[in-house]
Amino acid sequence: MRKPTNLKFGHRLIKIKYISHELAQKRKIMAEVDPDANVMEIDKSLDHATTLNCIIHEMFHIIAGHYSWEVPANIEELFCETATNGVCDLLSQNPKLVEYLANSLKK
Ligand SMILES: [Zn+2]
Repeated sequence: MRKPTNLKFGHRLIKIKYISHELAQKRKIMAEVDPDANVMEIDKSLDHATTLNCIIHEMFHIIAGHYSWEVPANIEELFCETATNGVCDLLSQNPKLVEYLANSLKK
């Protein structure tokens, strides 16, 4: 299964770069997004479920900026973390919902 290498969001085209595990460890990250450069970096050693979790988490940070949440960084992080885990649990426990989602959002 191929991991995504870019994402569209509004006017943005976010490039996803998969970095080495060593570099990720050195930077103490699993993933990170630079909203100004529209670049997301993810540890390439992560499995697919964790990679997806990271992508959604980092996209919540983009969404936070897009909708000007203007909350303290720790609150934004808490929301990104818990909302992502909740969404990933919901989708993994309801495969028919994933299918419905994919079909419902087609334009
Ligand atoms: Zn975060």
